[in-house]
Amino acid sequence: MIEKINHIGIAVKSITASLPFYRDTLGMLFEGDEIVVEQKVKVAFLAVGASRIELLEPTDDASPVAKFLAKKGEGVHHIAYEVADLAQTLADLQRDGVELIDKTPRSGAHGTLIAFLHPGATGGVLTELCQPGKH
Ligand code: ZN
Repeated sequence: MIEKINHIGIAVKSITASLPFYRDTLGMLFEGDEIVVEQKVKVAFLAVGASRIELLEPTDDASPVAKFLAKKGEGVHHIAYEVADLAQTLADLQRDGVELIDKTPRSGAHGTLIAFLHPGATGGVLTELCQPGKH
């Protein structure tokens, strides 16, 4: 049911400050940025082959990413696996007793559907599942 690693999320204090390292020093293709209002974050995507790096900057102190930065500092925040049918995958995981943060899909960046699994169920790795948008 997992098709590939869609992206790896990295929490940063400032995309403006962090972007030049990934784009210019490492030479990754910058695909653009976007505010995800629902999650109170600004995200920037950089292509790495068939996967991406997602830089996450909080837009508000109440953002989960702001809490992550306060507790752990900048660094790897989550891994996102791509699935073809997110609703079905979540139903399967729930049936198997996996603890979920999101029991139903919600909207992510670029028209994707996303859901997070609870780190308690994944050995401490915050895990996102995402289903690409139709555009
Ligand atoms: Zn993500």
